[in-house]
Amino acid sequence: MTDNLPKASLGYFPTPLIELTRLSAKLGGPKIYMKRDDNTGLALGGNKTRKLEYIMGDALAKGADTVITAGAIQSNHCRQTAGAAASLGLECHLVLGGKEPTRPQGNLLLDKVYGCHIHWAGKNRKGEDIPALVEQLKAEGKKPYVIPYGGSNELGAVAFVEAYEELDSQRRDMNVSFTHIIFASSSGATHAGLMLGNRILETNCQLVGINIDKGEMDKVPFDQHIVNLANSTARLIEADYQFTANDLILNSNYVGDGYGVIGELEKEAIAMTAQNEGILLDPVYTGRAMGGLIDMVRTGQITSEDTVLFWHTGGAPALFAYAEDLDIR
Ligand SMILES: *Cc1c(COP(=O)(O)O)cnc(C)c1O
Repeated sequence: MTDNLPKASLGYFPTPLIELTRLSAKLGGPKIYMKRDDNTGLALGGNKTRKLEYIMGDALAKGADTVITAGAIQSNHCRQTAGAAASLGLECHLVLGGKEPTRPQGNLLLDKVYGCHIHWAGKNRKGEDIPALVEQLKAEGKKPYVIPYGGSNELGAVAFVEAYEELDSQRRDMNVSFTHIIFASSSGATHAGLMLGNRILETNCQLVGINIDKGEMDKVPFDQHIVNLANSTARLIEADYQFTANDLILNSNYVGDGYGVIGELEKEAIAMTAQNEGILLDPVYTGRAMGGLIDMVRTGQITSEDTVLFWHTGGAPALFAYAEDLDIR
């Protein structure tokens, strides 16, 4: 289904599927497994590596010599794009929200190590300034290719259809099946791809996307954006499925004070996962999603009869930039 799409090899797959017995015992709850997409191998790893294999494949097929993308100052997507571009010999431009800090830290530090061109965009952290930059680079004789915010288009989602197939083959080998898959959902392609994979393989698993950002995508409410993306991705790979809003679970109970604002939920989840399993979560995405999982166990929405998969989507390099917010001193 996805075989005819150009693809650049950027990561190491399959990523491990492991069981978290100590965290499970600590919560007195369900069996918990983790899909380690924090170990994709590129630029310290994360879910964007999968998306970028298809997106960079497309950029190369179209003859691009330069890529542009946008994100927040601590964007994991931008860091992995920077690593991917470097490994493929492409020039990389990042349009980042906010203003230049006095000392680069976390993901921004790595963007700089990769030698990217960074453009500071103030409040415009979702790529509003990209069209002007495209014109400027074209005038300089370059062939720019724009990668969408979060790598969330149909190609990014296709990578997560494939990721779902990868997971399904691993869980069959381990003879386990999941009642729930829990993950951080923020620009939509992870969610859309997993939804489509779940439907194609008829696994009937409850996919719970934990909403990370209050916002919308391209002026469309985020839940509708995910459904639209799942449908357009199905068309791209000629899979005959149509989703509606009823097919989607987007849990917005844990957004708290918004994107990148760290609360007790994230702090507890990060400490509990690190101290019981030795696994590092990140403050913005996986900390919030694991906080959601823990709360769902405590409130009985997930019981000890269940077997839950937590999809670790990466992000730990941002920890270094959030020392103060995490009260770590
Ligand atoms: C981008 C990102 C997500 C969200 O994935 P989307 O496909 O954008 O919804 C989750 N976790 C981490 C660490 C990320 O960097």
